[in-house]
Amino acid sequence: MDQPLIAADPHAEIREEVAKLCARFPGEYWRKVDRERAYPTEFVQALTEAGYLGALIPEEYGGAGLPLSAAAAILEEIHRSGGNAGACHAQMYIMGTILRHGSPEQKAKYLPKIASGELRLQAFGVTEPTSGTDTTALRTVAKREGDNYIVNGQKIWTSRAEHSDLMLLLARTTPRDQVAKKTEGLSTFIVDMKAALGNGLTIRPIRTMMNHNTTEVFFDNMVVPAANLVGQEGKGFRYILDGMNAERLLISSESIGDAKWFIRKAVDYSKERVLFGRPIGQNQGVQFPIARAYAQMRAAEALLKTGLEKFEAGLPCGEEANMSKMLAAEAAWAAAEACIQTHGGFGFAEEYDVERKYREARLYQVAPISTNLVLSYIGEHVLGMPRSY
Ligand SMILES: Cc1cc2nc3c(=O)[nH]c(=O)nc-3n(C[C@H](O)[C@H](O)[C@H](O)COP(=O)(O)OP(=O)(O)OC[C@H]3O[C@@H](n4cnc5c(N)ncnc54)[C@H](O)[C@@H]3O)c2cc1C
Repeated sequence: MDQPLIAADPHAEIREEVAKLCARFPGEYWRKVDRERAYPTEFVQALTEAGYLGALIPEEYGGAGLPLSAAAAILEEIHRSGGNAGACHAQMYIMGTILRHGSPEQKAKYLPKIASGELRLQAFGVTEPTSGTDTTALRTVAKREGDNYIVNGQKIWTSRAEHSDLMLLLARTTPRDQVAKKTEGLSTFIVDMKAALGNGLTIRPIRTMMNHNTTEVFFDNMVVPAANLVGQEGKGFRYILDGMNAERLLISSESIGDAKWFIRKAVDYSKERVLFGRPIGQNQGVQFPIARAYAQMRAAEALLKTGLEKFEAGLPCGEEANMSKMLAAEAAWAAAEACIQTHGGFGFAEEYDVERKYREARLYQVAPISTNLVLSYIGEHVLGMPRSY
């Protein structure tokens, strides 16, 4: 039997359903939460109820047990529809650390409630103000005292902390000068934020150029039960790294969604806006930047697809995960530039949503990993050049 040249999209149905859900949250909704710097509670609730935020949680824990490519399709659709998954995407990749390295008790206690939406695991406490990208230099310390750890220190850019029940925290349990390798001596904890708030945990929102509900958090003798240590003490950095390819592939899919939104919006407007007696899209000066962004997006999308296939086959996929994340973020930015330019002055008016998406799309060249660090990864790990830092 003849095989089709291109396999049908296995997640076409999910995409269609997510697009329908997103249609209930149009531009007005996102503009309002953006203006008020509010959390899109209703949207996150709707996604949770539909089971999308538990997509990757195995069925035995109440999730949908879907592969990573399904989660990527969900996030892409949210962005392609003009929404922003930044409010909730972290749950999809943070829970992987508990799933892979958590104890049976931790999995039984948390995963079903995360899948049902009873508990939100949206906060990821890794970055610190003084260490930044140099993660192993982080200064937050967790000291064992009896059945507890006492945590002191500070994190920055801990997004969604005010809207999460749980935080996955990376802290140093053995001082850096007492470990053979600086990547050792770091541990991962599940923090019950609601219990800790006001009891050693303080959260301060940071206002940013887009609505991301990000914060800085302070730990002052915060008590975390030893039962909340994930896996082995001292191995936390490895556990966090394990989840990074999934995170990069998912962020890449969001940028692909953004690029598709900008391109569609730019194409439509270029055909409608008539000046000098013809649509502006008839001018190649208007067409070409949009066409170029489209080509860039398709190249990044192809790499993303390969990365997802390798991930799901259990093959190393660091190269594809990093490159697709970088190229997709750049394609989204090229599309954003083309879109705002095509709209002329109207691109700056709130009601077109272009300026909001423009602000939102820029983040992904910096977070969760900046372009320079992706390039360093390629230089060192793919091309075998000397490590630069
Ligand atoms: C809105 C937002 C939300 C975020 N959410 C979270 C979150 O939920 N949890 C969390 O833990 N973190 C979060 N982050 C942090 C994010 O992951 C970091 O901002 C990002 O990793 C960059 O780190 P940095 O800001 O400390 O920059 P730095 O590490 O200070 O880097 C600054 C610049 O120097 C460059 N640079 C640094 N070292 C090198 C080198 N060796 N070679 C070449 N260039 C280099 C970088 O590429 C970058 O451009 C968020 C950030 C933002 C802005």
